[in-house]
Amino acid sequence: MKSYQVCFLLIMGLAFVISFVLSSGRAMAQGAGFYKTKVGNLEVTAISDATGQMGFDLLGGLEESQIKQEAVKAGSEGNYFPSFVNAFVVDLPLGKVLVDTGNGPAANLMKNLTAAGIAPEDIKVVLLTHYHGDHIRGLIDQSGKAAFPNATVYGAIAEDKYWLGGGNRGEEAQKCLSPYESAERYKLVSPGDEVLPGVQVVELYGHTPGHVGFLFKGGKEDFLAWGDVAHIAYVQFKYPEATMRYDVDKSKGVEVRKRIFAESAEKKLVVAGAHLPFPGIGRVTKSEGDSYEYKSIE
Ligand SMILES: [Zn+2]
Repeated sequence: MKSYQVCFLLIMGLAFVISFVLSSGRAMAQGAGFYKTKVGNLEVTAISDATGQMGFDLLGGLEESQIKQEAVKAGSEGNYFPSFVNAFVVDLPLGKVLVDTGNGPAANLMKNLTAAGIAPEDIKVVLLTHYHGDHIRGLIDQSGKAAFPNATVYGAIAEDKYWLGGGNRGEEAQKCLSPYESAERYKLVSPGDEVLPGVQVVELYGHTPGHVGFLFKGGKEDFLAWGDVAHIAYVQFKYPEATMRYDVDKSKGVEVRKRIFAESAEKKLVVAGAHLPFPGIGRVTKSEGDSYEYKSIE
């Protein structure tokens, strides 16, 4: 090989290495159970806690044929849709903030936090959208101790009152919250409150009586973690009127869905849902009639 040929190959090789370094520098490290992205100036990590299936029977207000049609589009061959449980970590100057905690030790939150390079000790704040088991069980470990030893946990006053206001409804919530409560690291907020600098509590009452979202100001773009506004993305964006069995107040659930879909589309929010297809982060746009479309950022 002539020396100019060697030189040419060396230059090509160098160019390849440089372009590889540049492109991998732009793309953030990803893994099967976590997904890192930027929303405005916020660094957000979606964490997968679980995947599974949700049956047609959970939906109400639609004809079975309409549901079936959407299931086929989603690639489902049975009477069910793929289902997801996600949690989200947002990096703020005060430290890492975790929104919801998944199903607890039997599920994958801890494993996938570790895979994303986040230790339980790194979590400074946990924000709870509501107190259903798939959002609060991850607060404690197998022995019932705080799974996030340095975290202060925030929930909504109305949610606290609904679950813990008497009777035995709130047994699970009590168990999950008590290590934080006894350490004086359990705090209550209301819609409109600035729970943390640049993070506002958003009223989404309906799915549960104290269901809330958290709106993170990101500069160029804002990020809304909306908990359980939608459970089955394959159906509920097209048909926001479709009810979900888990909604405590189904008609309020529909109202909230319509209001928040409209607001998310209008304000071009980047939204994050606990049950949206992983990574559970995307954008909502207005479609025909009362319908909306959801587009995952992935
Ligand atoms: Zn849920």
